[in-house]
Amino acid sequence: MKSFPMFIDVANKKVAVFGGGEQAAQKTRLLLKTEAKPLLVADILNDELSGVVAQGRAEHAPMASWAQAVQGARFAFIASGCAGADAAAAAIAKGCGVMTNVVDRPELCDLTTPAIVDRDPVVVAIGTEGAAPVLARGVKTRIEQLLEPRLGDLAAYAGRIRAAVAQKVPRARHRAFWAWVFGGAPRRAFAKGEEDAATRLIAEAVEKGGEIVASNGLVSLVGAGPGSPDLLTLRAVQRLQEADVIYYDRLVDERVLELARRDAERIYVGKKPGAHSWPQARISRAIAAEGEAGKRVVRLKCGDPLVFGRAAEEAEALEAAGVAWEVIPGVTAASAAAAEAKFFPTERGVSRSMTYATGMGADGKLPADIVDTLRPGGTTVFYMCVATSPRIVAELLAAGAPAACEALVAEAAETPRRRFRRTTLGALEEQLWGDEIKSPAVVFIRWPSKLAAAERKPALARAIG
Ligand code: SAH
Repeated sequence: MKSFPMFIDVANKKVAVFGGGEQAAQKTRLLLKTEAKPLLVADILNDELSGVVAQGRAEHAPMASWAQAVQGARFAFIASGCAGADAAAAAIAKGCGVMTNVVDRPELCDLTTPAIVDRDPVVVAIGTEGAAPVLARGVKTRIEQLLEPRLGDLAAYAGRIRAAVAQKVPRARHRAFWAWVFGGAPRRAFAKGEEDAATRLIAEAVEKGGEIVASNGLVSLVGAGPGSPDLLTLRAVQRLQEADVIYYDRLVDERVLELARRDAERIYVGKKPGAHSWPQARISRAIAAEGEAGKRVVRLKCGDPLVFGRAAEEAEALEAAGVAWEVIPGVTAASAAAAEAKFFPTERGVSRSMTYATGMGADGKLPADIVDTLRPGGTTVFYMCVATSPRIVAELLAAGAPAACEALVAEAAETPRRRFRRTTLGALEEQLWGDEIKSPAVVFIRWPSKLAAAERKPALARAIG
């Protein structure tokens, strides 16, 4: 490290700013986030800076007074926009023993300003010693996503009660107590905007000498999306970062798991070739037990947990065990596939409904009422249909769906194996055989409202009413 990272106390201290234009305004905006007393040294201030001075949030002095103005400043920003004037001002500041930051002149800087994530009083400063400012901004974006907007309020509150905690909570319990405040129910409540509930919980625990009454455990049923990790929600990433243990399925992309906390335990519950997957009841029992033990559990499912994800069974087990649980939605395979293939399941005047259907019922067979799912002016997307799609096609045609219905076969959307085929219901069967479609795949059939039904075969017409 060429530079030493450090936070400088500027409360009620003079910080000199040389310049009155946009560059100086950028530095002044930063200073105004703090309790520093900016002294703006310029002959002309732009409108923004004049306003700041008029509001009494900064002082103003003419440029000729720089040598005097900079005396005793904590540090100086030199930002007049004129290279010559800046260099001269920097030399004067150095002569007074004041450290400087000179805009766009790294060779003249004693100090550099980091990229900042501001959750005051929690502040993250990111520097690359000037080597890669764009990277610093990228890192900042990642950290912005990780730290919820209200984290600062919680930290400030913790600061206010620190003395009371030191007095009422035995020393041996301090660490666990604060870990609970910042990793448990209080932090979650704060993040959701339930400050009163959070502070009440904390106050109760302090009164009880740091005894944490409410369990910390939480099971999150998290949607991992179809593959590519940039389709995860920020909330999903946050849960992955906080997780003690992650239970994940076969179709969850490895790249998503890389976003998890490094030391989180990972438990694979899907099928491996030649091995059995965990039965659903065992998964439900396991996650409930981990939640009861106070752990942060992520149950990671591909796509959206509520779309053919057996979430209801897990939720029931968690409710029965009295464990707190939540669902974090994900991008379901149909949404991802339609987006990648630019296919429109709904379209004004053409298709006004969208049905999610499974090609495989709980008994492992094609559901009997499959033809009911498709109607004129609607789209049906079939999941888990690789084995059954030839029969789905045959039954739909037999039930009168026009051969001209539009079809899309979407394999492995949002993964490197992606493959999309557009065809019609009439040509779909041949396409399926020719292409040897492989799981995971979804098949869309869109019946535009203007296409009339073909004549139904009597037996099936009766079957679908
Ligand atoms: N909860 C998941 C669905 C789980 S069922 C979701 O919301 O997407 C498993 C089925 O999802 C697969 O048989 C396949 O039909 C579909 N699927 C999952 N990932 C897919 C992908 N990347 N591309 C196409 N289909 C996918």
